[in-house]
Amino acid sequence: MSVYMHSIIVSTNVNTSYDASLQYFLSLSQGYTVANSVRPSLLVLKRGSFWGTGVTTIKTTLTINLSSDGENTAIQCNYDFPTAIVLGRDKEYLGSEVEGLKNFILTSQPQPQQTPNKDRVCVECKRNIPFDANVCPYCGHDYRKV
Ligand SMILES: [Zn+2]
Repeated sequence: MSVYMHSIIVSTNVNTSYDASLQYFLSLSQGYTVANSVRPSLLVLKRGSFWGTGVTTIKTTLTINLSSDGENTAIQCNYDFPTAIVLGRDKEYLGSEVEGLKNFILTSQPQPQQTPNKDRVCVECKRNIPFDANVCPYCGHDYRKV
């Protein structure tokens, strides 16, 4: 067997990273199935042959180790596959698969909420007041009067 390792570091906590890793690899068309899992530090996946034909025959094992320093999570992916598979082509593919995981985690993170500017400036006292205020809470300017 040959081993190929690829590590990424993502800025999500280890539980989120574990869930995303599981979701990502199972969503791929390569036919991954879960062989072992110890949430949130270990995930072992298996799949069939690489290039499309025998997904029923388990040939590749992917062991994912996750470790965290609290904020960032290191995800180490160790592929174990038959030496018969042409290594050069596979390495390129495997690398892009793991980078795909990184992008998946990055894009599935909730984006910071763009809070609309709810304030306006009072024409009278120039302080910030709520956009829909009828009366300025500071100077009492009444916006209902025409
Ligand atoms: Zn005012």
